[in-house]
Amino acid sequence: MGKPNHVVGADRDEMDDIKEIAILSGKGGTGKTSLTASFGDILGRVVLADCDVDAPDLHILLKPHVIERHSFQAGKLATIDDKRCSLCNLCVEECRFEAISISDRDGVPVIDPFLCEGCGVCKLVCPSEAISMEEKEAGEWMISETRTGPMVHATLLPGAENSGKLVSIVKENAKRIAQEKGIKWILVDGPPGIGCPVISSMAGIWRTIVVTEPTLSGKHDMIRILKLAKHFNVSGFVVVNKWDLNPEISLEIQKVARDMGAHCVGNIPYSEVFVSAQLNGRSVVEIDPYIRESIKDIWNNVINN
Ligand code: SF4
Ligand code: SF4
Repeated sequence: MGKPNHVVGADRDEMDDIKEIAILSGKGGTGKTSLTASFGDILGRVVLADCDVDAPDLHILLKPHVIERHSFQAGKLATIDDKRCSLCNLCVEECRFEAISISDRDGVPVIDPFLCEGCGVCKLVCPSEAISMEEKEAGEWMISETRTGPMVHATLLPGAENSGKLVSIVKENAKRIAQEKGIKWILVDGPPGIGCPVISSMAGIWRTIVVTEPTLSGKHDMIRILKLAKHFNVSGFVVVNKWDLNPEISLEIQKVARDMGAHCVGNIPYSEVFVSAQLNGRSVVEIDPYIRESIKDIWNNVINN
């Protein structure tokens, strides 16, 4: 506990040597996390940042050994001091989220932490100063060691909000560790979609790799992410996973990507190795030499373009 969430006193030149690459996709299950773990295994020593805080799964492939755990607090939660409560019921009547109900025990109101939005109205109306607003526990973030280097990862509690803030904490700490340990590459396993956590993942990124599948929705997802990358002035690189399931759409995706100014850095054929690797806690490049060469080429194309 107590480690800073921010990069404090970082030397500018050292920080500029660190390259952060985000691996993104429109939805889960496209092979984004497999590709991230594979890059880590190919490079040997990287800092990994699992920014998919709503549904993290990089740990399944990398089996991290957790070294530090930190709680993540976001928003406020109302709490009632039973001893001060005069049982007036005003808070129950005024909470428009129906988060407060009368308990069977002594008629003292109780607050449902999953329904409380932290608006503070109950505290305002309470005539007995029995209600206070506390920091709300929203999840945790961790620093771990893996076979390919340090990893920063997190989990958000069900229903908790502010995943963008948690993503920022993960990224800031990944950067701090990269600087402290002199590691050049940060691989960001991004959240799916284009929402707030993805926007947080884009901050400070050098390049982004969009992993897509040869379907119409895969094409649309890729377009949305490339537009977002363009907005943040980040170069986009496209990988079509399972390209051979629909070569025609794969070609179409590549054409659209190129028209948008992105680089098409490689295709990966359909392989059941992705599933078996995941089941065995390994990356595909550890198992399949052919895919290893394809992914190595993809990496070289990304960093040399
Ligand atoms: S803080 Fe707002 S949402 Fe939470 S219990 Fe009080 S009135 Fe209801
Ligand atoms: S408003 Fe205050 S005093 Fe009245 S029931 Fe709620 S907590 Fe108790």
